[in-house]
Amino acid sequence: MSKDYYQILGVNKGATQEEIKKSYYKLAHEHHPHKGGDESKMKEVNEAYGVLGNDEKRQQYDQFGQTFDQAKAGGGMGGFGDFSDFAKAYQSGDGNTGGGFSFNSQDLGDMFGDLFGGGARTRSARVVQGADIEIDLTIDFQQAVFGVDKELKLNKDKICDKCKGEGGEPGSKVTTCKTCKGTGQVVKSIGFGMGFPSACPTCDGQGKTIEKKCTSCHGKGVTKEMDMMGVKIPAGIDNGQTMRLAGKGQAAPKGGRPGDLYLRIRVLPDPRFHRDGSNIKTKSHISFSQAALGDKIEIETIDGKVKLKIPEGTQSGKIFSIKGKGVQQLQGRNRGDHLVEVIVETPSKLNRKQKQALKDLDS
Ligand SMILES: [Zn+2]
Ligand SMILES: [Zn+2]
Repeated sequence: MSKDYYQILGVNKGATQEEIKKSYYKLAHEHHPHKGGDESKMKEVNEAYGVLGNDEKRQQYDQFGQTFDQAKAGGGMGGFGDFSDFAKAYQSGDGNTGGGFSFNSQDLGDMFGDLFGGGARTRSARVVQGADIEIDLTIDFQQAVFGVDKELKLNKDKICDKCKGEGGEPGSKVTTCKTCKGTGQVVKSIGFGMGFPSACPTCDGQGKTIEKKCTSCHGKGVTKEMDMMGVKIPAGIDNGQTMRLAGKGQAAPKGGRPGDLYLRIRVLPDPRFHRDGSNIKTKSHISFSQAALGDKIEIETIDGKVKLKIPEGTQSGKIFSIKGKGVQQLQGRNRGDHLVEVIVETPSKLNRKQKQALKDLDS
């Protein structure tokens, strides 16, 4: 199992890119070897940020517990082609995975530049990020095993039609902010000649001010609307797992990146079956004579009824495996098995003749 990158960065699963970046900066500052920090810790933090700081890698990590690169490096990933098709299928159609912050060694330099106020680089105005949405989605046992297409109805922020997300009444004059001169940032001093860049209070980090607000969205750039969307729930998903749909959260005004949509999957139990990972377990009661002499019994699997051969001399508690009648593995093409535990019923109401027959067995 791979490391918990969220834990390493000290953020929760629903953290925004902004929060992840912030936490990374803080930790990197703390552990930087040049500043007397722990090098191995720094490496770990970099690795975690390399994944979580990149939308595409983070999505893979959320869904599969590792990224494609790690899966490749680990080798032995059967059906890798399927695996990647799989992820593509969940990526939202509009491909809003760009704009992610990718990590390279350059960033580290910039980072300290920023932290200590020595950054010569001019930063562009702040980009607004849409909020993430988190909802529960309940499916039944069968749907979790075979996958299902679901229709979601969500009341969420969409880009305002009238102002196209800009927040200004069409034709309204837009001027460059005088406080920050259009950069959207001012440097807040923390003393000792150091400063933190922070959003310009005059223009709220936008770098420009609009003369007249859009009357449709009151300048917000987004409006609440009912949104219908189809979601493909993959075969093999289990109760408690979360799917992340990049870019399907709240829309962001002014050209910002939309948030993500998290679906927490709840799987309703089925009284007939018990699921254990990719296996399905059931119990079957057989008679003492069936166990002793052998028989063929009928087993109800998720695919329907199948015959199971009970060999003679079967002991109670013996587990028989019916291959391929379990649950599809999320990361592969194989299905688990259906495991049948056989319970031998000890006869209790015997007549004299039957009792004698059993006694004869012992002698
Ligand atoms: Zn508007
Ligand atoms: Zn400003």
